[in-house]
Amino acid sequence: MAINLDDPKRFRPLVGQAHQVAMNMLRPISRKYDKAEHEYPKELDMLAAMIDGLSESGASEGAGAAGVKRSEDDGDGAVRNGTNLASVMSIAEMCWGDVGLALTIPRQGLGNAAIAAVANEEQSQRFKGRWAAMAITEPGAGSDSANIRSSARLDGDHYVLNGEKIFITAGGRADIVVVWASLDAARGRSAIKSFVVEKGTPGMQLVRLDHKLGIRASDTATILFTDCRVPRENLLGSPEIDSKQGFGGVMQTFDNTRPVVAAMALGVGRASLERTRELLRQRGILGGYERALFGSTAAEAELYRMDAELEAARLLTIKAAWMADNGIPNSKEASMAKAKAGRVANFITLRCLQLCAASGVTETELLEKWARDSKILDIFEGTQQIQLLIIARRLLGKGSQELR
Ligand SMILES: Cc1cc2nc3c(=O)[nH]c(=O)nc-3n(C[C@H](O)[C@H](O)[C@H](O)COP(=O)(O)OP(=O)(O)OC[C@H]3O[C@@H](n4cnc5c(N)ncnc54)[C@H](O)[C@@H]3O)c2cc1C
Repeated sequence: MAINLDDPKRFRPLVGQAHQVAMNMLRPISRKYDKAEHEYPKELDMLAAMIDGLSESGASEGAGAAGVKRSEDDGDGAVRNGTNLASVMSIAEMCWGDVGLALTIPRQGLGNAAIAAVANEEQSQRFKGRWAAMAITEPGAGSDSANIRSSARLDGDHYVLNGEKIFITAGGRADIVVVWASLDAARGRSAIKSFVVEKGTPGMQLVRLDHKLGIRASDTATILFTDCRVPRENLLGSPEIDSKQGFGGVMQTFDNTRPVVAAMALGVGRASLERTRELLRQRGILGGYERALFGSTAAEAELYRMDAELEAARLLTIKAAWMADNGIPNSKEASMAKAKAGRVANFITLRCLQLCAASGVTETELLEKWARDSKILDIFEGTQQIQLLIIARRLLGKGSQELR
């Protein structure tokens, strides 16, 4: 199959709409919800309704994280540009507007992507249109997610969940939470399954919301599960503990969501570069492209280098999403995209702040906010170091026990 690096024509209207939304709906309320941490951005209800309407009418596929899912390769050799590619392209635009707000658009949670990745047909239908958060991290298990201690014990027609989950994005706002828990701690990672828990289920307690450096419009919750009974049909995927498949089932989610997080980084990185150019041009520090390269100012040369880095990240992101759309295993590429885009966005947003000096650090501009917002993109869904570890394992053909 050949890869065409142009943006697919049929996604251009979707990207255009996402850009309009980012500019007219997200940017104007960016600062408001950065300051009003934990206040629900009610303006997003209208946006969520619009996205639902577009999805229902079939006018747009994959407008948010909910859209990402793995395509089966039906062997016809045809090239597909599907929901993964559409999602990363539209999410990059939304995050050009605001990462924190994009992360809190109802029904577009990372848990929705988890459902799309591992749910069966019946479950996909049952949880359609619900806002789903994803709860993996625990006080004793962050990067090493195989180490989680939350348990799920079968009792009649229910699983009984016990454990503490921390740092759950939209955990207090979502309708349902996809919770990782082990069916049998003695059987290691292959016993880890994901369970859909409805908000308000007895035994599920929202303990607190965290105060954060960035993405303050997005809530980050701690939830405690104490003898929380969940219908057995809410276990996503197969209930069998298959030691050969190992962690594969639940980990598949990341192959779809890491390119989405990479796309978030692309959006905020581009926002910073564009605004920095505008400010420096206003001050007469930037010329135009007509000037010979050797006549560029130091600031200009630096912006060109950052453009190139961002473009490299963009291509890796598009490739990882395109592979998912075409049923090609993409774990390595998804990690490459996230590692590169997260690192580059952290660098760009901070460097832009430096280039703009005083305007970079004051609240008159969003640059300082973008630098704070971008940090998380190199941490959640697997830190920079963890992505590099995964890439190394894939390149060297080593398993998680051999290289850790
Ligand atoms: C705002 C926010 C939102 C989040 N949203 C969610 C969510 O929705 N759902 C969810 O489940 N989790 C979520 N998380 C949790 C996030 O995924 C974890 O913070 C992340 O996986 C890192 O885990 P940790 O914080 O425990 O750090 P640790 O795993 O303790 O890592 C600490 C440091 O050690 C490094 N490190 C760890 N292991 C290795 C290794 N083997 N080799 C080299 N370096 C290593 C890490 O890269 C890191 O720099 C969120 C976190 C934040 C801050």
